[in-house]
Amino acid sequence: MPGFELFDGSERDEVLEVMEKGFTFRYNFDAMRHGVWKAREMEQMLCDKLGVRHAHLVSSGTTALHTALVCAGVGAGDEVIVPPFTFVATVEAVLMAGAVPVFAEIDETLCLSAEGIEAAITPRTRAVNVVHMCGGMADMDAIKALCDRHGLILIEDACQATGATYKGRALGTIGDAGALSFDSVKTISCGEGGAVLTNSDEIYEKAHMFTDHGHDHVGSDRGAEGHPFLGTNYRISEMNAAVGVAQLRKLDTILDIQRRNKAKLKAALESFGEVTLRHLPDPEGDNAGFLSFMLPNEDRAREVARALNERVGGVFYWWDNNWHYLRNWDHIKQLKAPSRLPIHDMPHPDYAQVQLPRSDDIISRTLSMLISLKWDDAAIEQRINAFNEVLK
Ligand SMILES: *Cc1c(COP(=O)(O)O)cnc(C)c1O
Repeated sequence: MPGFELFDGSERDEVLEVMEKGFTFRYNFDAMRHGVWKAREMEQMLCDKLGVRHAHLVSSGTTALHTALVCAGVGAGDEVIVPPFTFVATVEAVLMAGAVPVFAEIDETLCLSAEGIEAAITPRTRAVNVVHMCGGMADMDAIKALCDRHGLILIEDACQATGATYKGRALGTIGDAGALSFDSVKTISCGEGGAVLTNSDEIYEKAHMFTDHGHDHVGSDRGAEGHPFLGTNYRISEMNAAVGVAQLRKLDTILDIQRRNKAKLKAALESFGEVTLRHLPDPEGDNAGFLSFMLPNEDRAREVARALNERVGGVFYWWDNNWHYLRNWDHIKQLKAPSRLPIHDMPHPDYAQVQLPRSDDIISRTLSMLISLKWDDAAIEQRINAFNEVLK
């Protein structure tokens, strides 16, 4: 998954252009920047590449999610359905919007399922935040139809799935708004950065203003701009966007390499009776940044993770780590924060008592192997040998 593996002189050259010819701020300073607009350039590239009407760059995937929620209309007291298997940023963004996260069941797609979402809907549900985990995708036709039927806003966290598609459409562009992350370990890296994607003119207009203190970005005198509403500072810098411009040019190459490397490992895995591959609703659209598979039970999954990591490394057992699954998020379960949050004064689920047996069963048996861009034939061979030694 990590685009940083292909860092070369091109990222450096783009940053140098900003430092030597352009300016660090993404807006205004027209006379000083000699036509260098890296954030704008990357946004146009994203629109062209992903086939989406609007892409707005921000400082991170987390701030992209917060922006997507708020600008799509999620506010104080609204319930937002989220998966228990994600990166905590998904949950943080809901809390920062003053809204209430409601956890629902995932299925073998490793993403929220339509049935899981339906079971979690209440009269206060306003939105669904589906997370396309580990480069793959949720079953979007079923989820979109469900959201339409119930009048729910659909937000896509595609932070781990840049370049992945579902039935020909880029993940992050199918719902009302989507979020991408360009942090240091994602498919495309800006160092730090993210993007809000949307086909809605209304959400886009709100997004560029919300992420820059409500500035309306009309005219070329920043001091004279209007402020239709409150915002904050989630801007990306031109240096970060410059890195992203060089990285985004490599997206097709990155996806090609990942897909080729993953296909070989996947073919090898299929021969083991105890292994079930993660279900991909549209296999052709997989970004292939990870290879995820399930073992028959928790003990066996833990044993296989240990054995594979001893031999080749790069295998994640999410059930035991503190990173991507609700089970070990004690700070979320207890809603610990530096100071009082809106949710503390609202009715909300007891997050320490959330029961998600289906998700627990799946994640306690799931392993994910990171697909590297640097592997040669020998490195892939080594991993296939490790499968042969460890799996039945
Ligand atoms: C990385 C990630 C984020 C947050 O992105 P940052 O750019 O690190 O803020 C959100 N959701 C998921 C699923 C992620 O993997």
